[in-house]
Amino acid sequence: MHLQWRVNALDALSSEPLDVLVIGGGIVGAGIARDAAMRGLRTGLTEQYDFSWGTSSRSSRLLHGGIRYLAQGHLGLVRQASLEKCIVHHIAPHLTAALPCIFPTYRGTPWPRWKLRMGVKIYDLMCSGRNLGRSSKLDVEQLKTRLPGVNVAGLTGAVRYFDGATDDARLVLDTIRSAVSHGAVVCSYARMEEVERSGSRWQCRLLDILEHRIHRITASCVVNATGPWADQFRCSQISIRSTKGVHLVVDRSRLQLDEAVMMTERRRVLCAVPWGERVYVGTTDTDYDGRLEHVCTEAEDVQYLLMVLNRYFPAVDLTPSDVLRTWAGVRALAPDAGGAPSDVSRSHQVQMGSDGWVDVAGGKLTTYRLMAQQIVDMIMLWLGRERQHCRTATEPLLDGVAVEGVSSIIPPPVSREVVAHYCQHEWAVNLDDVMVRRTRWHYYHHDAHHVAERVAQWMAGCLGWDATVQADQIARYRQVLD
Ligand SMILES: Cc1cc2nc3c(=O)[nH]c(=O)nc-3n(C[C@H](O)[C@H](O)[C@H](O)COP(=O)(O)OP(=O)(O)OC[C@H]3O[C@@H](n4cnc5c(N)ncnc54)[C@H](O)[C@@H]3O)c2cc1C
Repeated sequence: MHLQWRVNALDALSSEPLDVLVIGGGIVGAGIARDAAMRGLRTGLTEQYDFSWGTSSRSSRLLHGGIRYLAQGHLGLVRQASLEKCIVHHIAPHLTAALPCIFPTYRGTPWPRWKLRMGVKIYDLMCSGRNLGRSSKLDVEQLKTRLPGVNVAGLTGAVRYFDGATDDARLVLDTIRSAVSHGAVVCSYARMEEVERSGSRWQCRLLDILEHRIHRITASCVVNATGPWADQFRCSQISIRSTKGVHLVVDRSRLQLDEAVMMTERRRVLCAVPWGERVYVGTTDTDYDGRLEHVCTEAEDVQYLLMVLNRYFPAVDLTPSDVLRTWAGVRALAPDAGGAPSDVSRSHQVQMGSDGWVDVAGGKLTTYRLMAQQIVDMIMLWLGRERQHCRTATEPLLDGVAVEGVSSIIPPPVSREVVAHYCQHEWAVNLDDVMVRRTRWHYYHHDAHHVAERVAQWMAGCLGWDATVQADQIARYRQVLD
């Protein structure tokens, strides 16, 4: 598959030494590339599949301080994430919507209403008075009006507070677009195979997955931002604990929610989030040691999520046949000493060696910008560059014209124009790049396979596919659908 932008990117990556090479095109890698490029570093980023292919397109899509972490006493983490939630709202308003969240409370659970009332007040304060909305309490009658059909057995009321809804994959893509506009060079479907220190630099062996060619890149610093893949490199000093999280999508006509609902299952908190004409529900949290490429939804994941939902909304009585789509992702957590997956800290770890190798793991979508800032600060110091002010918290990712009609939380209408935009300006290479990550049409539309056929035709026009490639692409997409 010959794509001129890839030829140019691979040439630029290998033509002269980089200051910093980022491995991994998830939200963390994207954030680092943007910050580094904005501070004038010669920056490259490579991703083994499509940008955001890993965990960063499979999250709960919440910008949140973490009401659960508050209960666990991780006040520092909640404060950090709360401020970052407001910063992302400022720099990417097209990808942040205020999301009212209702947390019903029941007698005899570890989540009493008095405790949560205090918690949500603290939550508001954590945003320094800039939260996306003000929290409140609801009594049983008010809750029944707002959440018709909610289980009333043992109900004591609810609290209502605000987090942000986003689209994780779009946030990655727009962050990468921003990085490129500041001079970063990026390439997808390019896997870092080997990294070796030689003299004062790193010599990197990159495999172009599409052309099956090796490219050599030289860089002063290398950032291992490969999330759940973080322990794959010999020079990596990091170890992680992987857990799987599953979400499912149902029709909003079946589960009529105007606001997000937080549901508890023992000490775990799950959420049901309205998303246009759909609602998605998540998440499970179970240890995972399978192949990262093969993480998928099992029947018991669906059963678990439906069990919790049906306990909260018994009259709705959802069954597996109501499930339109699912997605499964892997969290890369700091390896705490044992304990249930939900108890493991979501704070991030960053390690920089004296040789210019940086490992990063853990953290959240919400805190990606702060993680990037901390890492680029360290790199600037290590490179001996003059300290430069980080501007990622104040400068918008992209201007309004660049995002109009192509980047939003609810997928754009299906059209030839948007597909052409993704092929020409957003590095779409395969049909699933557009269906699954650029637009989310895959998760949103009942007739996604028909949509995919139209999209494949338009992509064929843009990318010069012949009938065989078009058929292969549809077959590849069907595999995703299955
Ligand atoms: C179920 C679930 C729900 C979540 N919900 C939320 C939420 O609501 N809010 C929130 O703030 N956070 C949430 N998170 C956490 C958040 O999604 C992650 O912290 C974040 O996406 C991690 O980003 P990353 O860039 O570190 O990893 P990834 O997105 O996985 O990116 C790493 C990338 O590196 C690439 N890669 C690996 N090896 C190589 C190589 N050799 N060469 C080139 N590229 C390579 C991979 O293909 C991958 O794309 C959730 C996580 C999960 C799993």
